[in-house]
Amino acid sequence: MSMPRHLVSGFHPLQQAEAGTAANVHDKASEIDPGDELVPHVTHDPDSGLPWPDPTAPEPDFITLAGYLFEAAAEATDGCLVAPAFICRHGHPSWLLRLGVI
Ligand SMILES: [Zn+2]
Repeated sequence: MSMPRHLVSGFHPLQQAEAGTAANVHDKASEIDPGDELVPHVTHDPDSGLPWPDPTAPEPDFITLAGYLFEAAAEATDGCLVAPAFICRHGHPSWLLRLGVI
């Protein structure tokens, strides 16, 4: 099954923070540990702008998310199994969509 990439490539965050003033940016080396970072949830469908329901299933860890991409099948936020870029019949997006991975 081929994925309709055009459906997911035009993602735009609905709420973009105002660009900070460049004068306040310090050049410092910071180590980024994805395991400790809190991933902000995407709470609205980027295409329709409609809000997604709150997750009813526990958030999967990073390794599980990577597995979803590899397997081309993902768990939705209510536990349904869906294609990675899709929303289940109950209106819950895959965790990959919810967490802005794709
Ligand atoms: Zn569902």
